[in-house]
Amino acid sequence: MPTSMPTGACDVVVVGAGIVGAATAEALALDGHRVTVVDRGTPGGEATAAGMGHVVVMDDSGPQIALTAYSQKLWDDRADSLPAAGERMVCGTLWVAADDEEMTEVHRKANFYHARGVDAEVLNSSGLCKAEPQLRGGLAGGLRVPGDSVIYPPPIAAAMLETVRQRGGKVLLGSAVTAMTGQEVRLQDGTVLHCDYAVNATGCGAGLLCSGIEIRPRKGHLVITDRYPGFVRHQLIELGYLKSAHSSTGSSVAFNVQPRPTGQLLIGSSRQFGEDSAEVDFEILSRMLARAVEYMPAIASLSALRVWTGFRAATPDKLPLIGPHPEDPRLLLATGHEGLGITTSMGTARLIADSLAGRPTAIPLEPYLPSRMLMGAHAH
Ligand SMILES: Cc1cc2nc3c(=O)[nH]c(=O)nc-3n(C[C@H](O)[C@H](O)[C@H](O)COP(=O)(O)OP(=O)(O)OC[C@H]3O[C@@H](n4cnc5c(N)ncnc54)[C@H](O)[C@@H]3O)c2cc1C
Repeated sequence: MPTSMPTGACDVVVVGAGIVGAATAEALALDGHRVTVVDRGTPGGEATAAGMGHVVVMDDSGPQIALTAYSQKLWDDRADSLPAAGERMVCGTLWVAADDEEMTEVHRKANFYHARGVDAEVLNSSGLCKAEPQLRGGLAGGLRVPGDSVIYPPPIAAAMLETVRQRGGKVLLGSAVTAMTGQEVRLQDGTVLHCDYAVNATGCGAGLLCSGIEIRPRKGHLVITDRYPGFVRHQLIELGYLKSAHSSTGSSVAFNVQPRPTGQLLIGSSRQFGEDSAEVDFEILSRMLARAVEYMPAIASLSALRVWTGFRAATPDKLPLIGPHPEDPRLLLATGHEGLGITTSMGTARLIADSLAGRPTAIPLEPYLPSRMLMGAHAH
């Protein structure tokens, strides 16, 4: 974090009360800072409410596994103090391989996880069948990662804000921010909040409040079913998901099903760039459900209760922006978490709080620093 800045307790304004802003505000309040949180809506009302809530260790890159594994540990550490409405369940992830080519990826992934101390078990075709009897026959196998969990983050965000209040902080909801620097946050009603630091945790809205950062909304659809307890046991994801998540253009769908503690199933997932409308896209929805039925035929007989869409805040290099804006060192960014922000909110919050306090961070901050975008090819 910047040098020659205020030391000790600071006035910090956190803009955005999604899971990233709420976790960051909580960590700062617990460090003794005087925190004000501002959100135009309700806690966790945007991407945080739309997401699947899968707390997952992902291995696309070294920095990604570092942040996801660190964050998962932080979620695990606070498991006992999460509100019941946060519906945490350690169901594990089962990455499903359709053919031999995807089995090669299973082995690569297993080695990558093992080398980093993440528990993972390779399953052959019959092991996969035993683990998830509803999957169609003839699949090649899979990788079980037992430590992954699922949560429902909006009530967790609300509980984090309650901690901020208990520490003497303020939470201003229904207040849109129209402009911000590291020392001034201007609200729509004309109020100006003065501070030592400000945090931009506005997800997809972050680029509208800060110059020089490129955040693109990436639309997703999810379906929730009626209650079918025991229908699936793990978060199930086809390995083809990785191809779909990596594509940086066009639309893609992948088989991705999650059991909820209520017995309901969440069925995903889709990814679309260049779609600003929150309307359900029936062409994508039917492709997504057809993919789910291809892997798990009995899904066709379940009843769906609701479908919704949400937007992931995507950066060009698929890593979040965490840390000071190079042109305004007191303006801290905590955005661009794309499809992993529920997981990585915890690590983000700790990285920001530790750097502000001058403590060593548990993982290196450098890969996530906004300077890589502002000073690199994406600067404007
Ligand atoms: C379909 C889908 C599935 C997903 N699945 C998962 C998953 O399984 N696991 C996972 O880890 N992640 C998942 N994600 C990603 C995850 O939901 C997001 O990365 C995460 O919720 C981002 O949190 P956030 O706090 O940054 O953003 P948000 O939750 O969007 O919060 C931003 C807040 O800022 C406020 N705001 C914006 N602009 C302003 C302004 N000008 N003034 C005041 N307030 C403002 C908004 O009201 C909002 O409350 C998924 C996302 C989608 C869409």
